[in-house]
Amino acid sequence: MTAPTRKRPDVNPQILALHDLQVQDRNLTILEHRLSNIPAQLEELDRDLSTLADMLEAERKRLDETLAFKRAQEEQMAEEQRIVQESKAKMSQVQTTRELSALQRQIETTKRMADARAQEIAKIEESVAAVEARIAEMEAALDELRAKAEAEKAKLVDSQGTLEKKVARLRKKREKLVERVDPELLRTYDRIRRRHGGIAFAPASEERCLGCKMRVPHLVYAQLVKGETIPHCEYCGRLLYWAGHFPEEAERRRKREAERRERLERAGDDSAGT
Ligand SMILES: [Zn+2]
Repeated sequence: MTAPTRKRPDVNPQILALHDLQVQDRNLTILEHRLSNIPAQLEELDRDLSTLADMLEAERKRLDETLAFKRAQEEQMAEEQRIVQESKAKMSQVQTTRELSALQRQIETTKRMADARAQEIAKIEESVAAVEARIAEMEAALDELRAKAEAEKAKLVDSQGTLEKKVARLRKKREKLVERVDPELLRTYDRIRRRHGGIAFAPASEERCLGCKMRVPHLVYAQLVKGETIPHCEYCGRLLYWAGHFPEEAERRRKREAERRERLERAGDDSAGT
Protein backbone atom coordinates (compact mmCIF):
# COMPACT_ATOMS: atom_id res chain seq x y z
CA MET A 1 0.00 0.00 0.00
CA THR A 2 1.13 3.52 -0.65
CA ALA A 3 1.88 5.32 2.58
CA PRO A 4 0.29 8.75 2.71
CA THR A 5 2.91 11.41 2.19
CA ARG A 6 3.22 13.67 5.16
CA LYS A 7 3.94 17.34 4.68
CA ARG A 8 7.69 17.72 4.81
CA PRO A 9 9.03 21.15 4.03
CA ASP A 10 12.60 19.84 4.30
CA VAL A 11 12.35 17.54 1.27
CA ASN A 12 11.84 18.44 -2.39
CA PRO A 13 8.18 17.56 -3.17
CA GLN A 14 9.35 15.83 -6.36
CA ILE A 15 11.24 13.33 -4.18
CA LEU A 16 8.06 12.62 -2.22
CA ALA A 17 5.97 12.35 -5.39
CA LEU A 18 8.46 10.02 -7.06
CA HIS A 19 8.73 7.95 -3.91
CA ASP A 20 4.96 7.50 -3.72
CA LEU A 21 5.01 6.48 -7.36
CA GLN A 22 7.86 4.02 -6.78
CA VAL A 23 6.08 2.35 -3.85
CA GLN A 24 2.98 2.01 -5.98
CA ASP A 25 4.88 0.80 -9.06
CA ARG A 26 6.69 -1.80 -7.02
CA ASN A 27 3.36 -3.31 -5.96
CA LEU A 28 2.05 -3.00 -9.49
CA THR A 29 5.10 -4.81 -10.90
CA ILE A 30 4.70 -7.67 -8.41
CA LEU A 31 1.00 -8.05 -9.24
CA GLU A 32 1.57 -7.80 -12.99
CA HIS A 33 4.28 -10.43 -12.73
CA ARG A 34 1.99 -12.76 -10.77
CA LEU A 35 -0.79 -12.17 -13.28
CA SER A 36 1.43 -12.87 -16.27
CA ASN A 37 2.53 -16.18 -14.73
CA ILE A 38 -0.98 -17.59 -14.44
CA PRO A 39 -1.42 -18.78 -18.07
CA ALA A 40 1.83 -20.77 -17.82
CA GLN A 41 0.69 -22.32 -14.53
CA LEU A 42 -2.62 -23.32 -16.12
CA GLU A 43 -0.79 -24.83 -19.08
CA GLU A 44 1.50 -26.78 -16.79
CA LEU A 45 -1.48 -28.37 -15.04
CA ASP A 46 -2.92 -29.40 -18.41
CA ARG A 47 0.45 -30.75 -19.49
CA ASP A 48 0.75 -32.95 -16.38
CA LEU A 49 -2.73 -34.31 -17.02
CA SER A 50 -2.15 -35.05 -20.67
CA THR A 51 1.18 -36.77 -19.92
CA LEU A 52 -0.55 -39.17 -17.55
CA ALA A 53 -3.47 -39.63 -19.98
CA ASP A 54 -0.99 -40.49 -22.76
CA MET A 55 0.73 -43.05 -20.54
CA LEU A 56 -2.64 -44.59 -19.73
CA GLU A 57 -3.55 -44.71 -23.42
CA ALA A 58 -0.27 -46.47 -24.25
CA GLU A 59 -0.91 -49.01 -21.49
CA ARG A 60 -4.42 -49.69 -22.82
CA LYS A 61 -3.03 -50.21 -26.31
CA ARG A 62 -0.52 -52.70 -24.91
CA LEU A 63 -3.37 -54.55 -23.22
CA ASP A 64 -5.36 -54.73 -26.48
CA GLU A 65 -2.32 -56.12 -28.29
CA THR A 66 -1.72 -58.70 -25.58
CA LEU A 67 -5.36 -59.80 -25.66
CA ALA A 68 -5.22 -60.14 -29.47
CA PHE A 69 -2.07 -62.26 -29.14
CA LYS A 70 -3.81 -64.41 -26.52
CA ARG A 71 -6.80 -64.98 -28.83
CA ALA A 72 -4.47 -66.05 -31.66
CA GLN A 73 -2.74 -68.51 -29.32
CA GLU A 74 -6.09 -69.94 -28.20
CA GLU A 75 -7.22 -70.43 -31.79
CA GLN A 76 -3.94 -72.15 -32.57
CA MET A 77 -4.35 -74.44 -29.56
CA ALA A 78 -7.92 -75.33 -30.55
CA GLU A 79 -6.62 -76.26 -33.99
CA GLU A 80 -3.93 -78.47 -32.46
CA GLN A 81 -6.47 -80.18 -30.22
CA ARG A 82 -8.69 -80.77 -33.24
CA ILE A 83 -5.76 -82.41 -35.07
CA VAL A 84 -5.11 -84.67 -32.08
CA GLN A 85 -8.79 -85.76 -32.00
CA GLU A 86 -8.80 -86.35 -35.74
CA SER A 87 -5.60 -88.39 -35.60
CA LYS A 88 -6.97 -90.49 -32.74
CA ALA A 89 -10.07 -91.24 -34.84
CA LYS A 90 -7.83 -92.44 -37.69
CA MET A 91 -6.09 -94.97 -35.42
CA SER A 92 -8.70 -97.69 -36.05
CA GLN A 93 -8.30 -97.38 -39.81
CA VAL A 94 -4.51 -97.82 -40.09
CA GLN A 95 -3.28 -100.96 -41.90
CA THR A 96 0.38 -101.29 -40.93
CA THR A 97 2.50 -100.93 -37.79
CA ARG A 98 4.54 -98.36 -39.68
CA GLU A 99 1.47 -96.22 -40.33
CA LEU A 100 0.40 -96.64 -36.72
CA SER A 101 3.69 -95.47 -35.25
CA ALA A 102 3.78 -92.52 -37.67
CA LEU A 103 0.30 -91.52 -36.52
CA GLN A 104 1.26 -91.94 -32.84
CA ARG A 105 4.32 -89.72 -33.36
CA GLN A 106 2.15 -87.07 -34.97
CA ILE A 107 -0.31 -87.21 -32.06
CA GLU A 108 2.53 -86.91 -29.52
CA THR A 109 4.14 -83.96 -31.32
CA THR A 110 0.87 -82.08 -31.70
CA LYS A 111 -0.04 -82.74 -28.06
CA ARG A 112 3.33 -81.35 -26.91
CA MET A 113 2.75 -78.25 -29.03
CA ALA A 114 -0.72 -77.79 -27.55
CA ASP A 115 0.65 -78.23 -24.00
CA ALA A 116 3.40 -75.66 -24.59
CA ARG A 117 0.81 -73.28 -25.96
CA ALA A 118 -1.41 -73.79 -22.91
CA GLN A 119 1.54 -72.79 -20.70
CA GLU A 120 2.19 -69.77 -22.92
CA ILE A 121 -1.48 -68.74 -22.61
CA ALA A 122 -1.28 -69.04 -18.80
CA LYS A 123 1.74 -66.69 -18.85
CA ILE A 124 -0.11 -64.23 -21.09
CA GLU A 125 -3.03 -64.28 -18.64
CA GLU A 126 -0.67 -63.35 -15.82
CA SER A 127 0.71 -60.42 -17.75
CA VAL A 128 -2.83 -59.34 -18.73
CA ALA A 129 -3.74 -59.29 -15.03
CA ALA A 130 -0.64 -57.20 -14.25
CA VAL A 131 -1.37 -54.71 -17.04
CA GLU A 132 -5.01 -54.46 -15.96
CA ALA A 133 -3.93 -53.74 -12.38
CA ARG A 134 -1.52 -51.07 -13.64
CA ILE A 135 -4.27 -49.51 -15.75
CA ALA A 136 -6.63 -49.44 -12.76
CA GLU A 137 -3.92 -47.72 -10.69
CA MET A 138 -3.27 -45.17 -13.41
CA GLU A 139 -6.97 -44.47 -13.84
CA ALA A 140 -7.28 -43.81 -10.13
CA ALA A 141 -4.19 -41.57 -10.21
CA LEU A 142 -5.53 -39.71 -13.22
CA ASP A 143 -8.89 -39.16 -11.53
CA GLU A 144 -7.14 -37.85 -8.44
CA LEU A 145 -4.82 -35.61 -10.45
CA ARG A 146 -7.71 -34.34 -12.53
CA ALA A 147 -9.70 -33.42 -9.41
CA LYS A 148 -6.66 -31.66 -7.93
CA ALA A 149 -5.91 -29.86 -11.20
CA GLU A 150 -9.50 -28.70 -11.52
CA ALA A 151 -9.45 -27.30 -7.98
CA GLU A 152 -6.07 -25.69 -8.64
CA LYS A 153 -7.28 -24.21 -11.92
CA ALA A 154 -10.41 -22.82 -10.32
CA LYS A 155 -8.20 -21.18 -7.69
CA LEU A 156 -5.88 -19.75 -10.35
CA VAL A 157 -8.74 -18.40 -12.45
CA ASP A 158 -10.21 -16.90 -9.31
CA SER A 159 -6.95 -15.20 -8.35
CA GLN A 160 -6.53 -14.11 -11.96
CA GLY A 161 -9.80 -12.20 -11.66
CA THR A 162 -8.78 -10.69 -8.34
CA LEU A 163 -5.35 -9.70 -9.66
CA GLU A 164 -6.82 -8.15 -12.79
CA LYS A 165 -9.07 -5.99 -10.65
CA LYS A 166 -6.20 -4.99 -8.35
CA VAL A 167 -3.93 -4.18 -11.29
CA ALA A 168 -6.65 -2.08 -12.92
CA ARG A 169 -7.15 -0.23 -9.63
CA LEU A 170 -3.43 0.40 -9.20
CA ARG A 171 -3.08 1.60 -12.79
CA LYS A 172 -5.86 4.07 -12.22
CA LYS A 173 -4.23 5.21 -9.01
CA ARG A 174 -0.97 5.57 -10.89
CA GLU A 175 -2.56 8.07 -13.27
CA LYS A 176 -3.19 10.32 -10.25
CA LEU A 177 0.30 9.83 -8.83
CA VAL A 178 2.13 10.70 -12.05
CA GLU A 179 0.32 14.03 -12.18
CA ARG A 180 2.47 15.15 -9.26
CA VAL A 181 5.76 14.24 -10.98
CA ASP A 182 7.53 16.61 -13.33
CA PRO A 183 7.03 15.24 -16.90
CA GLU A 184 10.70 15.11 -17.78
CA LEU A 185 11.59 13.40 -14.51
CA LEU A 186 8.74 10.95 -15.12
CA ARG A 187 10.09 10.06 -18.58
CA THR A 188 13.54 9.39 -17.10
CA TYR A 189 12.00 7.37 -14.29
CA ASP A 190 9.89 5.24 -16.66
CA ARG A 191 12.86 4.62 -18.93
CA ILE A 192 15.02 3.39 -16.02
CA ARG A 193 12.13 1.36 -14.65
CA ARG A 194 11.79 -0.56 -17.91
CA ARG A 195 15.52 -1.21 -17.95
CA HIS A 196 15.67 -2.40 -14.35
CA GLY A 197 12.45 -4.38 -14.26
CA GLY A 198 10.53 -2.26 -11.76
CA ILE A 199 12.82 -0.26 -9.47
CA ALA A 200 13.96 3.08 -10.88
CA PHE A 201 14.03 5.19 -7.71
CA ALA A 202 16.37 3.55 -5.26
CA PRO A 203 17.23 4.43 -1.66
CA ALA A 204 20.80 5.23 -0.68
CA SER A 205 22.00 4.43 2.80
CA GLU A 206 25.43 4.60 4.47
CA GLU A 207 26.85 6.05 1.25
CA ARG A 208 25.66 3.13 -0.86
CA CYS A 209 23.00 2.78 -3.55
CA LEU A 210 20.71 0.00 -2.32
CA GLY A 211 19.71 -0.71 -5.92
CA CYS A 212 23.16 -1.98 -6.89
CA LYS A 213 25.06 -1.88 -3.53
CA MET A 214 27.78 0.31 -5.05
CA ARG A 215 29.29 3.30 -3.27
CA VAL A 216 27.80 6.76 -3.76
CA PRO A 217 30.41 9.57 -3.91
CA HIS A 218 30.58 11.61 -0.71
CA LEU A 219 29.43 14.85 -2.33
CA VAL A 220 26.47 13.21 -4.06
CA TYR A 221 25.51 11.56 -0.80
CA ALA A 222 25.61 14.92 0.97
CA GLN A 223 23.18 16.24 -1.67
CA LEU A 224 20.91 13.26 -1.12
CA VAL A 225 20.78 13.90 2.61
CA LYS A 226 19.81 17.52 1.93
CA GLY A 227 16.84 16.26 -0.07
CA GLU A 228 16.91 18.94 -2.74
CA THR A 229 18.05 17.20 -5.92
CA ILE A 230 17.49 13.76 -7.46
CA PRO A 231 20.86 12.45 -8.70
CA HIS A 232 21.54 9.21 -10.59
CA CYS A 233 23.59 6.32 -9.26
CA GLU A 234 26.86 6.35 -11.22
CA TYR A 235 26.83 2.57 -11.52
CA CYS A 236 23.28 1.39 -12.17
CA GLY A 237 21.83 4.69 -13.40
CA ARG A 238 18.85 4.57 -11.03
CA LEU A 239 17.52 7.79 -9.54
CA LEU A 240 18.46 8.07 -5.88
CA TYR A 241 16.91 9.30 -2.65
CA TRP A 242 18.21 9.23 0.89
CA ALA A 243 16.75 6.35 2.92
CA GLY A 244 16.73 8.60 5.99
CA HIS A 245 13.89 10.63 4.51
CA PHE A 246 11.60 7.60 4.75
CA PRO A 247 12.38 6.09 8.17
CA GLU A 248 9.35 3.76 8.24
CA GLU A 249 10.38 2.24 4.95
CA ALA A 250 13.96 1.89 6.17
CA GLU A 251 12.66 0.10 9.26
CA ARG A 252 10.62 -2.33 7.12
CA ARG A 253 13.65 -2.96 4.95
CA ARG A 254 15.81 -3.67 8.02
CA LYS A 255 13.21 -6.17 9.24
CA ARG A 256 13.00 -7.87 5.85
CA GLU A 257 16.77 -8.06 5.67
CA ALA A 258 17.01 -9.54 9.18
CA GLU A 259 14.38 -12.15 8.29
CA ARG A 260 16.20 -13.00 5.10
CA ARG A 261 19.47 -13.48 6.99
CA GLU A 262 17.78 -15.62 9.58
CA ARG A 263 16.33 -17.81 6.84
CA LEU A 264 19.72 -18.13 5.19
CA GLU A 265 21.41 -18.96 8.48
CA ARG A 266 18.79 -21.58 9.21
CA ALA A 267 19.49 -23.03 5.78
CA GLY A 268 23.13 -23.27 6.84
CA ASP A 269 24.47 -20.77 4.35
CA ASP A 270 27.89 -19.51 5.50
CA SER A 271 27.72 -16.40 3.37
CA ALA A 272 24.65 -15.17 5.26
CA GLY A 273 26.66 -13.80 8.17
CA THR A 274 28.80 -11.47 6.08
ZN1 LIG B 1 23.07 1.94 -8.08
